[in-house]
Amino acid sequence: MATEIRRKRISREIQRILMDELSKTVFGVSSPDHKFLPCISYVEMSKDLRNARVFVSGSDTLIKALNKDQGHYRNIVAQLVTMKYAPAIQFKKDTVEEGAMKFERLLSKIKNEDKAAEFNILRDEVVEKLLSAENILIVSHINSDGDNIGSTIGLARSLNQSGKKAIVANKTGVPDNFLFLKGTEAVVSTEDLLPEYDTIVFADCGSIERPGLSNNIIEAAAVTINFDHHTTNTRFADYNLIDRNAPSTGSVIYDMLKDKNLPIDIDTATALYTALLTDTGSFRYSSTSSSAFNMASDLLSIGVKPWYVASNIYESKKPSQIKLLGRLLDGMEFFFDNRVALITVTEKEFDETKTTAADTEGAVNYARGVKGVEIGVLIRIDHDNSYKVSLRSKNFDITPVALEFGGGGHKNASGFHIEGPLEKAKSMLIAAIRKLFYEK
Ligand code: 5GP
Ligand code: MN
Repeated sequence: MATEIRRKRISREIQRILMDELSKTVFGVSSPDHKFLPCISYVEMSKDLRNARVFVSGSDTLIKALNKDQGHYRNIVAQLVTMKYAPAIQFKKDTVEEGAMKFERLLSKIKNEDKAAEFNILRDEVVEKLLSAENILIVSHINSDGDNIGSTIGLARSLNQSGKKAIVANKTGVPDNFLFLKGTEAVVSTEDLLPEYDTIVFADCGSIERPGLSNNIIEAAAVTINFDHHTTNTRFADYNLIDRNAPSTGSVIYDMLKDKNLPIDIDTATALYTALLTDTGSFRYSSTSSSAFNMASDLLSIGVKPWYVASNIYESKKPSQIKLLGRLLDGMEFFFDNRVALITVTEKEFDETKTTAADTEGAVNYARGVKGVEIGVLIRIDHDNSYKVSLRSKNFDITPVALEFGGGGHKNASGFHIEGPLEKAKSMLIAAIRKLFYEK
């Protein structure tokens, strides 16, 4: 006789197989009439596993039709299930109210469970790779923010405490307001690296080019690992741990450290909290899930001080930065009946206020913050004739605009680089946003 656990596992497997089959052959899962899809509420296996009673909520006619094809469904199960003898299938009417509505939900629940199981296996492999690496390089994108700094130095610290050699490199350094984080003093420039790393970790990078790392360093590595949460991630590494639902890359790393019992001391916790705090816009963005608050709560219990972190990050602006902000707000332009607000930053503003690119951090949020504005844009001189664009939206998915110009990001926060001259770049950008508004 089969054990109870095996019976349950097989019931679930048969339920999944038959739901998949019904959605394909009987009704077509892409049908707009989802509410009419039948639902397999559960599958009851006999003790000897020779018979499966499949409870379906649907009309008597439907149950009759399904039972006519018992042989067909048994064959499908026989092909896919891990059993010596496929059980005989008998469909039964399930009278549970609104059962049909549950079909889609159940199917997606089962699929999500399968995906989560795959993700866990991948994460185990990643930890194995990290803990057997000799020399680890951790990199992230240029123009750092709280998530990429917090996630890289948090991971490095935990790996160092696990006895691993791991360093963090960044092409454009650490912004002043994140220098309070322990470990930032050890961040080196990607320009100074030698091809001596067997393992490279990319964190918070939607694509392999984002850190500006030279090819010889990448080619010398035996293993590449990609931790991220961007919807546009190109899955460029050997191991891609991409969780699009995670509110920050720091959260993807935190989940792994916690699950695998890797060290998280107060400084690692503070770095990971910084990642979470900044990428959720201080727990305001739609990415702020209950798991975000659970993570914050866990980190606070390790000793993180929220006010210490927030005051360092948000309340430490230099007077010159505030002057720059004043200039930028004054020059804000509006388009499409004030649905778009645009801030422009040229050499002139930097020169006159003695500021640099890092001092524009957060300015784009003032553009989105205007009542009625749906998309906030910041276009900033990067070098020579090249501009960096930051897009922020309230509801629109702005990734299509970023992708059109070779960039990427998230639904409500994306970015890209564009060649000048400035006026031409602006009009191309406005044309792309017009398409988003007026062309479906
Ligand atoms: P920000 O505007 O703050 O630089 O970036 C907003 C979001 O878009 C971030 O998640 C960032 O990683 C992404 N992003 C910004 N610039 C680029 C880019 O040039 N390429 C890609 N792939 N993503 C970008
Ligand atoms: Mn991020």
